[in-house]
Amino acid sequence: MKKFAVRNLRLCTKECLCLYVCPTGAADTENSIIDVAKCTGCGHCAEACVSKAISLIPTEFPQQQKHDENLVSAMNTLVVSKVTAEHTAAALPDRFARALQRSNRIMAEDLVRESGYMLPQSKNARKFLKGLAEAGNERAEKLLKLIKSNE
Ligand code: SF4
Ligand code: SF4
Repeated sequence: MKKFAVRNLRLCTKECLCLYVCPTGAADTENSIIDVAKCTGCGHCAEACVSKAISLIPTEFPQQQKHDENLVSAMNTLVVSKVTAEHTAAALPDRFARALQRSNRIMAEDLVRESGYMLPQSKNARKFLKGLAEAGNERAEKLLKLIKSNE
């Protein structure tokens, strides 16, 4: 499967090993974003990066997998409970409550992703993006043109 490299700028510690091993110069750009047009997906940069800041991403998303309806429904119930816990913690004053709020948000996001909602090629993600586009969000409109649905 054809891939290309992306650099997570938050993790990048500017060791620059990727620049030396990249055979095409794709990793060496002025804005620190790997040049997709030059990248062959060889993966040398990701192997060399001591900070694990580079990942390889497939150019085409895999087929959206079907999820069992009972499983999705159970996950949705769990999401609602996590979001409720997040809101409850948000109303409390101390630092422990902030940590609880954050961890419930992360768990809710993971559950949503697991149930297929967040996969860019899924029907749900498309519906979500369409809603944003209709509300005038130009980035959502651009993403709708770029991401092909395969569900
Ligand atoms: S090797 Fe990793 S840490 Fe170094 S510049 Fe490249 S991406 Fe950043
Ligand atoms: S995957 Fe290969 S071509 Fe692409 S940036 Fe990394 S080293 Fe360069």
